[in-house]
Amino acid sequence: MPAVMWFRRDLRLSDNPALVAASAAGDRSVLGVFVLDPALLRPSGAPRVAVLYRTLRALDDQLGGNLVVRHGDPVRVLPALCREIGAESVHCAADYGPYGDRRDQAVADALGGIDLHRSGSPYAVEPGSVRNGSGENFKVYSAFYRAWREHGWPEPARSVRPSWVAARSDGLPDEPELPDGLRLPKVGEAAARRAWRTFLTERADSYADYRDRPDLDRTSHMSVHLKWGTIHPRTLLADLSDRHETYRRELAWREFYADVLHARPDSARRYYHQQLQGLPFVTGRLAEQRLSAWAAGRTGYPIVDAGMRQLLAEGWMHNRVRMIVASFLVKDLHLEWTDGARHFMRHLVDADLASNAHGWQWVAGTGTDAAPFYRIFNPVLQGRKFDPDGDYIRRYVPELAGLPAGRIHEPWRGPDGLPAGYPDRIVDHAAERAASLADYQALREAAG
Ligand code: FAD
Repeated sequence: MPAVMWFRRDLRLSDNPALVAASAAGDRSVLGVFVLDPALLRPSGAPRVAVLYRTLRALDDQLGGNLVVRHGDPVRVLPALCREIGAESVHCAADYGPYGDRRDQAVADALGGIDLHRSGSPYAVEPGSVRNGSGENFKVYSAFYRAWREHGWPEPARSVRPSWVAARSDGLPDEPELPDGLRLPKVGEAAARRAWRTFLTERADSYADYRDRPDLDRTSHMSVHLKWGTIHPRTLLADLSDRHETYRRELAWREFYADVLHARPDSARRYYHQQLQGLPFVTGRLAEQRLSAWAAGRTGYPIVDAGMRQLLAEGWMHNRVRMIVASFLVKDLHLEWTDGARHFMRHLVDADLASNAHGWQWVAGTGTDAAPFYRIFNPVLQGRKFDPDGDYIRRYVPELAGLPAGRIHEPWRGPDGLPAGYPDRIVDHAAERAASLADYQALREAAG
């Protein structure tokens, strides 16, 4: 009797515990299915949908053309598929997101007598397993990190070679129309492994020194592969040694945020610390104007604009710049972090509910961090420090390409005025910083 391997965010064959379990249950006879669920496609922008389709095509090649794609609600699709092929078990990795958790429960119920087996997860350590002395989840990253390391994780799963069962497939829809000039990463398991080997041999040893430099582009770009599970964090962790401690810590942020979201599913869209929702945000026409200038990379602050244009051009943005543009949206433009997070979720090819919501909340000062609100990034100083020659800005903001390093972070200074086509600053950072701090102080005083 074949077993069903329900692929979701684990679009790979190696180091895949659910596939090992499916292969054992089906006596190597496995049907691989991906369900195109409209509920998951709805919030995704075209770049992420294109990346998903390309990843699924790569997986289909690995399965010798036998990947079954079905369109619809998994609650209806999976029981019907099991009946069609006489499968007695469905295997998948556990999903800890709020939607995935509910969906899996509903699918398990709908399968009736057929078992839904969950093996492994998209994380080295499953959310909810690392606990403090009182049995609660950690609210502070550094304490989580220590406990997470102590908890440890299994070695990568052994490889299996199932015999893939064929069935009717609805196939993949055509790729959505993509913005002109969009540069998407190479995806699929082989591409993920290649990118990881290149990082490990060429950049991992100097990661700690250069990871904050968007101009040098020295990070691993593993996020899109971790998002779709074309590589597992366990595989990455197994390759790291003591000199890669900084990288291990970054992977742990992803695990921490998944753990926080698991404990507080509401924090995907709501303030983790709800008091800060009382800050006076701008609304109406002004809010719309500001949000669209920010989203288009036309705020008049070069490092902010470069970041937002990188997002549009590649569906990805460097971490340091994600922090700068997020701080700018909340503390300079006085918009809510949820507006920015929604824009990121639509455009990022690595969009991940937990890392995104909590990355935003960390910067906004509404999240898990201890000394939060006073951290306000100065876009000029951040630009000078992390893009000292202005090469990152030149790459994404052609209007500024002719400016020397000394002027590129403050193009409004200088005898000839702004370069043609580049906008004037939409707000004054010093004034908005002061206003943010005053608002925060007033909120604290009002709360007593
Ligand atoms: P590397 O520097 O090579 O890091 C390796 C891996 O560690 C990353 O792939 C990622 O899995 C993890 N990691 C690194 N930094 C973080 C972090 N701060 N939080 C969580 N995980 C981290 N990451 C996402 O994967 N999806 C998102 O939707 C997302 N949204 C973000 C929004 C904001 C406002 C901020 C500040 C950060 C966000 N991040 C998100 C985290 C981080 O920016 C990206 O993971 C990173 O830039 C991806 O590039 P990389 O793979 O080259 O990272």
